[in-house]
Amino acid sequence: MARKTWTSDSKDFRSPLGEDYRTLRARTLKICRALVKAYPDARIPLVFSTPHELLVATILSAQCTDLRVNEVTAVLFRKYKSVADWAAAPLGTLEKEVHSAGFFRNKAKAINESAEDILERFGGKVPSTLEELTSLRGIGRKSANVLIAHAFDGQGIIVDTHFIRLSRQMGLTGELDPVKIEFALMELLPKRHWSSFSLMRTWHGRVTCAAKKPECERCVVAASCPAAASQGDITWAAKLPQKKKGPRSR
Ligand code: SF4
Repeated sequence: MARKTWTSDSKDFRSPLGEDYRTLRARTLKICRALVKAYPDARIPLVFSTPHELLVATILSAQCTDLRVNEVTAVLFRKYKSVADWAAAPLGTLEKEVHSAGFFRNKAKAINESAEDILERFGGKVPSTLEELTSLRGIGRKSANVLIAHAFDGQGIIVDTHFIRLSRQMGLTGELDPVKIEFALMELLPKRHWSSFSLMRTWHGRVTCAAKKPECERCVVAASCPAAASQGDITWAAKLPQKKKGPRSR
């Protein structure tokens, strides 16, 4: 998918609220600054000590709680010390070991195959660019951006379920496709904010703007959020395309 670049006078730019590009960009930045200020101590909740451990934890985190992932990896990281150890692990053994994280067959395969790729093509060292990371078997853009942001201190927009929901509630995009949302936010925010904005949005989705009960009355971005007036009920967003059931991106 090609990335679309907008400018302030782009004729084909469409905001879900009808704002022009410049206004939406300013509102997005305002939301970003408020969230960064509200959660100064926010950290990625996955426990890891190397880029490869984060890669394994990120694969396991798909549709699984961080708490469960950390329980599973606490055992695994004591057993598998190097990328070579993960690549050599029998798939059946790995499947049993990650079973409690759900989708165990796909996750064990992704861990196993990505380790083989890292060993064969990158000399056992986890690569650090989006292109290289997404070239690994079993690694999608979301996982790659998690690595870039939290293992390599780079900038990446991490589009998880919280990010998709909040992007629509806040009226920043009407898209449902994670890659289109990522590209849209890349245009709306200066690159230096991409990683922190992603992390803060996830925290905000857990702490204040939970899917079932958003606490708009105490929300730090209420003044910039169109869903605040309806207590998080995204009545206006209901007119946007709705999500179809299916596998989520990794
Ligand atoms: S105002 Fe309400 S819906 Fe909007 S981000 Fe805050 S909690 Fe969520």
